[in-house]
Amino acid sequence: MPVQNALRYGTGGDLPDGSPSLSVVVPCFNEESSIKPLYGEVLRVLEGEADVRDFELIFVDDGSKDATLAAVKKYAALDSRVHYISFSRNFGKEAALLAGLAGSAGGYVVTLDADLQDPPALIPEMLAAVRGGGFDCAAARRVTRKGEPPVRSLFARCFYWMMAKFADIDVVDGARDFRLMSRVYVDVILSLEERNRFSKGIFPWIGFRTKWFEYENIERGSGKTKWSFWRLVIYALDGILAFSSKPLAIASVLGILLFLASLVLISWIVIEKLMGHTVNVYGWASTVCIILFTSGIQLFSVGILGQYLAKTYTEVKRRPHYIVREAS
Ligand code: UDP
Ligand code: MG
Repeated sequence: MPVQNALRYGTGGDLPDGSPSLSVVVPCFNEESSIKPLYGEVLRVLEGEADVRDFELIFVDDGSKDATLAAVKKYAALDSRVHYISFSRNFGKEAALLAGLAGSAGGYVVTLDADLQDPPALIPEMLAAVRGGGFDCAAARRVTRKGEPPVRSLFARCFYWMMAKFADIDVVDGARDFRLMSRVYVDVILSLEERNRFSKGIFPWIGFRTKWFEYENIERGSGKTKWSFWRLVIYALDGILAFSSKPLAIASVLGILLFLASLVLISWIVIEKLMGHTVNVYGWASTVCIILFTSGIQLFSVGILGQYLAKTYTEVKRRPHYIVREAS
């Protein structure tokens, strides 16, 4: 959708008749035990807010293998405000968020996790910030990582450090995918067509005014995390590749440095020779080391290049971000 179209809506004022005032988007992957508590909590919070009682709650079932879809359908049958979108397989949280945003009709849209780690009780405050407070988006960040394995926290710190050094955007440490957005903000996000979607980078990239809400880490209500350590590492690498081309520059600089080093060594050998000294009789060990070192750097650089090429390849194939199997 062209961005100009998106701007047609203003900030939720002139939506088509019958649009809900607020859309709540929840990505779910194997969350059968979380649906009930989440539904209860969203209802408790939003029914207390006179002007958003007509909200819609959109569950995006990201190819769950358990009874998530059945649980969601049960609430959809009972409550006409509940909707669902179910994928043909697991496409990942980014795809689930995107489908939820694309399917939302509200003047404001909030995305939150199914496991109650993003407290719905914050929604009224976030809404107030966006509705009347001069902000386009209200986002939440956790200021502690209490209850998280230390190795994971350490890697998370490294990731934020690398993003700060490499990427040209400001990725906020501890930012969650818990965001309340104006219609314009959502439509601008939907207008970005890239396949490799890294929303922690997309949000700061599109700009606008964001109000941050901070809170202590809340442990998962039920079920277990879907992010293995390796999945997080790959996610982090994707983020760096999507928002920075500095790794390519690093590869080039390493190449130049090694070339300069070789010039120094060559001059040294020539000078020794001219002075009549015999060199490199015992040099095999150092030669092997240098060969290993340079070929390592070469492979590393080719690898970086390959990563960008692979990303470009997925972009040009233009496959859909997700495939919907059924939806209400
Ligand atoms: N999720 C998803 N697709 C996936 C992985 C996760 O839709 O492939 C959802 C998951 O159901 C949850 C949210 O994304 O609602 C966050 O996942 P999780 O709680 O496992 O992540 P963590 O809070 O541990 O970072
Ligand atoms: Mg969680």
